[in-house]
Formats: sequence, C-alpha cells, structure tokens
Amino acid sequence: MRNIKTFLPVFAALAIFILAQFYIVRQAWIQKDEVFDLRYRSVSKEAIQDMASFDSYTGFKKAYFIIDDISQLYLQKSLTLLNTEDSALLAKDIRDYFTKILKEDQLLSEYLSRYYEKLGLEKKIKPIIYVNYIDLIDIQENIRVYKAPISELKKQQSDKSILVNTFTSEGNSYKIAFDYYIDIANKERIMLRELSLILILSIMSFIVISVIYIATMRSYLEEKRLSGLKTDFINNMTHELKTPLSTITVAGKTLKHEAVINDREKIIETANMIGKQSIHLNELINLILEISMWERTQFQVDKKDIKVEELLREISDNFRNGCGKGCIFSEHYDLNGVSAEIDDLYFTTMINNLLNNAVKYSKNTPEVKVEAFISDSDVIIKVSDKGIGISRSDQKNIFDKFYRVSTGNIHESKGLGLGLYYVKKIAEAHGGSVSVSSKKGKGSVFIVNIPKSI
Ligand code: ADP
Repeated sequence: MRNIKTFLPVFAALAIFILAQFYIVRQAWIQKDEVFDLRYRSVSKEAIQDMASFDSYTGFKKAYFIIDDISQLYLQKSLTLLNTEDSALLAKDIRDYFTKILKEDQLLSEYLSRYYEKLGLEKKIKPIIYVNYIDLIDIQENIRVYKAPISELKKQQSDKSILVNTFTSEGNSYKIAFDYYIDIANKERIMLRELSLILILSIMSFIVISVIYIATMRSYLEEKRLSGLKTDFINNMTHELKTPLSTITVAGKTLKHEAVINDREKIIETANMIGKQSIHLNELINLILEISMWERTQFQVDKKDIKVEELLREISDNFRNGCGKGCIFSEHYDLNGVSAEIDDLYFTTMINNLLNNAVKYSKNTPEVKVEAFISDSDVIIKVSDKGIGISRSDQKNIFDKFYRVSTGNIHESKGLGLGLYYVKKIAEAHGGSVSVSSKKGKGSVFIVNIPKSI
C-alpha cells in the first residue's frame, strides 16, 4: 500500500507523458490531414483550370448533354403532378438519375488521376458527386425540382472526402449545381508513411522513458529492501552480541562473591565460561569483519586438490558427534574417489552452515542427510532435512546478505542472515553454485555444485 502511494506521482507523471505524446501525435495527424487535403484541393483546382483552358466544360460535356435532353422530359412530367408527395418522389428520381449520369462521365476523374501521377501524388482516386440543387426551367417560370436538404449537406461536410470544386451548369431547361469530391484510396497509409518519423520518435521516447522509470523504481525498491535488511541485521546482531556479553558480565560479578573467591572449582568453571563466551564474541566480530572485507576485496580461496569424500566424511563425523542423539543423521556418497580443487577451511564452513541450518530450522528431532555424487563435470553435494521448509517467494532471497525469513518474531531462531550468503559466496569462489528446492512444512534440499578435478 505504501509502495503504491510512493509511486503515485511516478504513475501520474507517466500517464501525463503518455497523454502528452498522444496529444502531440493527434495534433500532428490533424495538421497533416489538413495539409494533405489542401495539397490535393489546390492541385485539383490547377488541373481543372488546365482542363478548362482547352475544354470549357471541364469534363462533364457528355453528361450535360444528356441532362439537357432528359430535363425536358422531366419538366413535362413535373407539370402534370398534383401533390407534393409525388413531386418529392420525382425530385429524388431526378437527383439519382442526374448523379448517375455525372458519375458515368469519367473524363475529369481520369484527367485528375493523370495529373496527380505526373506530380508524384497518389493516382488512385474515387470521385463522389453530391447534387446541391437542380432547377428545371420553364420559359415562363423557374421551377425548382430538387434542392439538397440541410442534413444531407452537413453529412457531406463531415465526410473524409476532399471537396475539389462546386460545378454549376445551365442548359435550355435546367440549372444544376453539384459538389465534386474525391476520395484518395490510400490516404491513411500515405499519411502514416509521412508521419512515420514522428510516430517512431514518439514510440521510442515512450519506451526510453518507461525503461528509465522502471529502472528507477526497481533500484528504489532494492534500496528500500536492503535498508530494511540492514536494520534487521543490526537488531539481530545486537541480540547476538548481547547474549555472550551479559553472560560475561554476570560471570564477572559472580567472581567477586565471597563464596566463589574461596571455591577454586567454581572460579575455574566461571573462567571457562568467560573464555567460551569471549571466543564466541570474537567469532561474531570476526564474521562481520570478514564480510565487510569481502565487500572491498575479491573473495580469496586457497584451493588444493582434495578427495571430496574424505573431507565430507570428516565434516559429517564432527557434525554427528556434535549433534549426538539430538538428531537423525545419514550420509550416502557415490564419488568414486573423485577430487576437486577445494579450500578445505571454506568448504567445511559452507557444509557446516548447511548442516547447522538443517538442525536450526527443524521443529522436531532433526532428520539430516548428506549425499554426494558426480555428474559430467561436477561434484554434487546435497544437504537435506525434513524441517520447516521455505516458501517459494523466500527461496529467491535466502542467499542474499542479511536476509532472514520473517517469522513475526525475529529472535525465534538465532541468526544474522549471513550463513547462506556465505555458502553462496564460497560455492561461487570454487567456480560452482548453490540452489535450493523446498516445500513449506515438508523440508528443504540444498544442492551445491563444484567442478571436479579432471
Ligand atoms: P540465518 O540462519 O542466520 O537466519 P541464513 O543465511 O543461514 O541465515 O539463512 C537465511 C534464512 O533462510 C533463514 O532465516 C531461514 O529462514 C532460511 N533457512 C535457511 N536454511 C533453512 C533450512 N534448512 N530450512 C528452512 N529454512 C532455512
């Protein structure tokens, strides 16, 4: 929830950016559309003038001829009509018929098409004709038979077609005015091509900005996660340090007691305890120093050719002795005397960390198993337990520095979140890797791969 709030301004900025991009592209499109239409309109006007210079009828000569002929017949018909309904029907009939005749006269369209082609423009056009009015003329009085209704004219204006010219013509018994539009067949494709640079730039800038945003968000989240881990680490560390310190303090006070001063055995026992706790304290401090040293310098391992089974058996024996009856331990090796380049000290620490975790994270009597076998190029070591297991989401992080699976109570089991980080570092320093496979409540298997000697 807090993350959403933190990123709200970021999302808002991204949304504004997308809207701005959309607006810019839309405006560019509208402008291009206007320029496109203007270009075709002015070129078409030029073409019509050019055509008129040698043919005063600008292409519709044949159509006007027919219209003149037919209009006389229609005029006769219109004079005999009795009601308005019939005249409306006749008007529609005349409009449709005259439009058809005008459309069939392709001279202008063909001329325009050639003219566009000459100028390198798109030649595929579709002519559209809208008749605005047709007057049939009687010698005595003008008779208006057809006039385009307002709604029809509006429809023409919103149409995507380009108005090229409004033609008027007058004959013996007619007067006509019609709009000549053209549709450019590939208008959208042509415009897209012309706008491609803006579109590509816009898409690219969107991608770049998004990538920057995502990267910033990720590094911010990572920072936050690390700072959380560090805080947990300091809490755990304080707890870990306090335990031996308070034992030493209490032991120190005990030594001052009159009864203890005279009891040689008690003094030795207390001194031993102080010694043990001091060593533990020292180990903790060394661990921190070591880790901070890794950060600054490359992790140094002193590798020797070592028989893996022998070393594993030694580590396992020590572990079994330490564990005693407190755990069920088994081992199985199928290593054929293979050896590997190993730093025995670090390797021992690595396996011990896994073994100790197997015990630490088991609720009942720990059941721990060590297995090892060889693959084509590696020695594979498996440390498994039947403990509390690790959820899938935590499995991704357990090898991170300071990471501890949150249980609600951070002191439920002691630790600094460094053990597995150490395991990973050591495996990698040996040219290998570590992975985990686990199911919550069922147990875990840690698998270490180390290259074998050839
Ligand atoms: P620490 O044990 O000090 O917390 P580690 O780096 O060794 O740190 O382990 C990180 C976390 O991984 C532990 O907090 C624990 O929750 C989980 N974990 C490690 N080993 C096991 C295991 N064998 N079974 C269940 N959980 C484990």
